[in-house]
Amino acid sequence: TMQIFMPLNFLGFVYREIRGALANIENLFKLLDKQPAIDDAPGAQQLKVKGGEIRFQHVNFSYQPDRPILRQVDFTVSPGQKVAIVGESGAGKSTLIKLLFRFYDTIEGKILIDGQDIAAVTQQSLRQAIGIVPQDTVLFNESIYENVRYARPDASEQDVLDAIRMAHLDTFIRTLPKGHHTLVGERGLKLSGGEKQRIAIARVILKKPPILLFDEATSSLDSQSEQAILKAFREVSSGHTSLVIAHRLSTVVDADNILVMSEGKLVEQGNHAQLLQKQGYYARLWYAQQHQREHDGSGQ
Ligand code: ATP
Repeated sequence: TMQIFMPLNFLGFVYREIRGALANIENLFKLLDKQPAIDDAPGAQQLKVKGGEIRFQHVNFSYQPDRPILRQVDFTVSPGQKVAIVGESGAGKSTLIKLLFRFYDTIEGKILIDGQDIAAVTQQSLRQAIGIVPQDTVLFNESIYENVRYARPDASEQDVLDAIRMAHLDTFIRTLPKGHHTLVGERGLKLSGGEKQRIAIARVILKKPPILLFDEATSSLDSQSEQAILKAFREVSSGHTSLVIAHRLSTVVDADNILVMSEGKLVEQGNHAQLLQKQGYYARLWYAQQHQREHDGSGQ
């Protein structure tokens, strides 16, 4: 069965490679830093986050005029809720997150955070309020310590070390002769996907944003690494509004609400038990994944 799924995984990999920098939210951020495509509205106010409620109201979006990507997407994430977004490749999951970060403006409809239209607030205040743990974290050619501190350059040494510990990186760091002074990045120590995601989590812990976005890795991690990431993310997101593009069963089962996307539409929502009971799209997705796991032996 492994052989049957390999080509699919491989295609997914190629597709991701082709999308290149655009797939990576942090890279996109840098790209847009250089060419701001979106301007602040005249007289834009600072976003004031209270509970961290997120509301999509009849959102329509397309990258190109003749190809609708999101159609009439409506949902609310209550303050402090943990919401998972699931759906097939190309369903529009990352697009939802890009719109929330205002990399693009909606064509129709609005996105509100605590009742404030994100198109009417300063982008600086919007991005300050949101922390992202991307699939592929960008590391600088610096020490682990500097890579974490970059999230809040004025943080004290104690704060940085606390964030490293809370992201469950300290056990790994203790195995390195130079500890957190170890150089990483292109010219330094190569970190695994899971270790890089934990660096991103440490950055988020240091930044303390009220809203968290997590793009879970699709590639399979060893289960120890996966457990460490999930534990770290659960701890940092507790009490905060969080949106997770979910690929792991444990994440969806835990979520307060699951948004099921298909072809740019929100086709179902509810928690895991409610959606299974519905025996609709989500239930089919879930049983297909269960089946795959039983056959390729990667069950959790
Ligand atoms: P995956 O699970 O593969 O990451 P996804 O559900 O996150 O998929 P999106 O990345 O949101 O899907 O993409 C939705 C659709 O929008 C896809 O058909 C994709 O080809 C298209 N798309 C994404 N980014 C762009 C872009 N920058 N320009 C044009 N089309 C895009």
